[in-house]
Amino acid sequence: MQIHNLGFPRIGAKRELKFSLEKYWRGELSQAEFLAQSRERRDSNWQIQQTAGIDILPVGDFAHYDHVLNTTVILGLVPERFTAQQHSEHNNALDLEFRVARGQAPTGCQCAASDMTKWFNTNYHYIVPELSSALVENVKAEVKLAPLLVQFNDAQKFSDHRKVVLIGPITYLHLSVVENEDKLALLPALLKRYQQVLNQLSAAGVQWVQIDEPVLGLELNKEWRQAFAQVYETLTKGSLKLLLTTYFAAIDHHVDLIKDLPFDGIHIDTIAEPTNVNNIIERLPKHWIISLGVIDGRNIWKADLVCIYQKLQPLYRQLGQRLWLAPSCSLLHSPVDLESEQKLDQEFKSWLAFATQKCQELSLLKQALLTENSDEITLYSNAALARCVSTRINNPEVQQRVNGLTAPDYHRKETFEQRKQVQQQVLNLPLLPTTTIGSFPQTGDIREVRAKWRRQEINEHEYQNLIKAEIKGVIERQEAIGLDVLVHGEAERNDMVEYFGELLEGVAFTQFAWVQSYGSRCVKPPIIFGDISRKKPMTVEWIKYAQSLTDKPVKAMLTGPVTILAWSFVRDDLAREQVAKQIALAISDEVGDLIAGGTKIIQIDEPAIREGLPVKQSQWQYYLDWATSSFCLSAAKASANIQIHTHMCYSEFNDILPAIIALDADVLTVETARSNMALLDAFEQQPYPNDLGPGVYDIHSPNVPSVNWMVSLLEKAQHYIPLERLWVNPDCGLKTRGWHETKLALENMVLAAKQLRNKFN
Ligand code: GLN
Ligand code: ZN
Repeated sequence: MQIHNLGFPRIGAKRELKFSLEKYWRGELSQAEFLAQSRERRDSNWQIQQTAGIDILPVGDFAHYDHVLNTTVILGLVPERFTAQQHSEHNNALDLEFRVARGQAPTGCQCAASDMTKWFNTNYHYIVPELSSALVENVKAEVKLAPLLVQFNDAQKFSDHRKVVLIGPITYLHLSVVENEDKLALLPALLKRYQQVLNQLSAAGVQWVQIDEPVLGLELNKEWRQAFAQVYETLTKGSLKLLLTTYFAAIDHHVDLIKDLPFDGIHIDTIAEPTNVNNIIERLPKHWIISLGVIDGRNIWKADLVCIYQKLQPLYRQLGQRLWLAPSCSLLHSPVDLESEQKLDQEFKSWLAFATQKCQELSLLKQALLTENSDEITLYSNAALARCVSTRINNPEVQQRVNGLTAPDYHRKETFEQRKQVQQQVLNLPLLPTTTIGSFPQTGDIREVRAKWRRQEINEHEYQNLIKAEIKGVIERQEAIGLDVLVHGEAERNDMVEYFGELLEGVAFTQFAWVQSYGSRCVKPPIIFGDISRKKPMTVEWIKYAQSLTDKPVKAMLTGPVTILAWSFVRDDLAREQVAKQIALAISDEVGDLIAGGTKIIQIDEPAIREGLPVKQSQWQYYLDWATSSFCLSAAKASANIQIHTHMCYSEFNDILPAIIALDADVLTVETARSNMALLDAFEQQPYPNDLGPGVYDIHSPNVPSVNWMVSLLEKAQHYIPLERLWVNPDCGLKTRGWHETKLALENMVLAAKQLRNKFN
């Protein structure tokens, strides 16, 4: 039996890759220095895996920026605007990658970067391939395998047993964008490229190719299923062996499609969804390698090795050498090494396993299976199971509250129409009210204040005063600009999830559990380990203070339960929807206290609602039902006179509109400016019933939008939403912007609203 790994985190235990990337981009590292550091990173990753006992090392999982982008480069499919004449004097492969990913690089001209989007249901973003028949058929753009083959040789220092990781053609095509052509029509030409890649790998002496087809987790329509079969019937693999690799979802529904194709093995994720492994194995050819993903590649908990061992033992007896073991998916989605954590308390630390430890877990499992001796893993499992019985995770009061919830707890008492009337009396807002999404520019000074407070260089009192001074400044600026609904600016928050996580019971933080989000960007998700409750009010004092400075209404800012859940590592001993309910109750407590403190408007942000969608569309509705219920639960306490806002961004919402309507927020502010209000088209079929604030300018750009431009967007919006229900606001929070452009943009935005008011009043 062999143990292998589908991929290792690239960033390094101390985010070394991030820092080399950023230095290179700033011109502080030469290309040779950067490449040398990347090579060190790869070597170190192989070393870690080899030391942990991994038998077959992955090659090609590393990327300077993104592995989908790597595939694009390997296939010779970089769009022409990045390779065109104006860059040619700097014919430089590394910078080409960065131009595609970021629109710029130390050499070459600037050009619009390729789009970036979420990798299945993870928080990792890939660079979307832009394909066209012209590009795929262009014989001058050749496949380019040399760098990968160099890595294959490099890895030999660590093991003779290596496999090349490659995204398969169907997944690659499925994830790409193709304009005005049928995607599948590009397949024959794409296949020719894949054939060349396989030929070169075979010629280089590669034995195994891990061909990643996670798209098999989706349902796939007939055309795509046929295409899948056709692809693998057509490709000639020569001396190569192909391990069809799937993850993030069960593939039981595709066994008939797969079983007659010339693969040499399959990798199945046994963690993501329930899957009938025995049944799958029975239906597959008897010579295939069966690789089981038995260690969770996407969470941070120690595995219950005894439980896995007991399931595997009969399979090992049956399959012998044919059984391989691996993490469920690439460890790209795990932090690197638990040993970096010096400050965690010992009990909590003993519950965790990061990527390095997950490799060791596989090794322990293998030993136990080979020797039929489970002593060592019994000790290990005891440590893993200790978490689920620890008194630290249970809060009977929270459990009782969740169990006691009934239908009325999930709904506001009055209809939107009733609420709207009452709120108009209370708030007396003008037609087309203007507001912002919450955060204002996070200046160096603000960051410094928070950092000093964390390092205890200033005391609580000093900290409060400095943040209050910030709030005061922000309120004054908003009044001067003439906005109607003000915000306190979120200066006390480093991150919209971390801020609440730190104030909630049942959530822990690490120092180094970073996970790559995209390129050099990493996130350090909070760890939800136990029942969630609120220790004390989290935002009330700040909001009260802000409101005391102005007669205009100040909108309080909370992060919603679905977003807190989506951006955290979550306990696996309780269903996600239960955890969401617990968070919702904590947020609901905050809503109650805000209202008691006199707040009239509360925004509960849910930018991540779409991200939580399961891979299979047939499961979307179930998720959307509990996700919307959790949001509703957090807001339901608000009586008719309290206006609830929510905000969403980062994604397309057209296909989940019914769920967004079901949130029943009084006001929804949503990102639309970049797409020129394309979102609103969806409201043609299904009108949005409550108030709507479609973003009128893109906060991701420092450009100041003109009054006319915003007026034109609002006029467009007015076709879909009557004026009486239309709000005027930017696309998202302003924390990444500078004050200069923020002031000018908001002044223009207020002018745009006034111009339209005059026209219609
Ligand atoms: N209220 C948050 C802010 O303004 C919302 C951020 C977000 O949508 N991601 O920063
Ligand atoms: Zn946003």
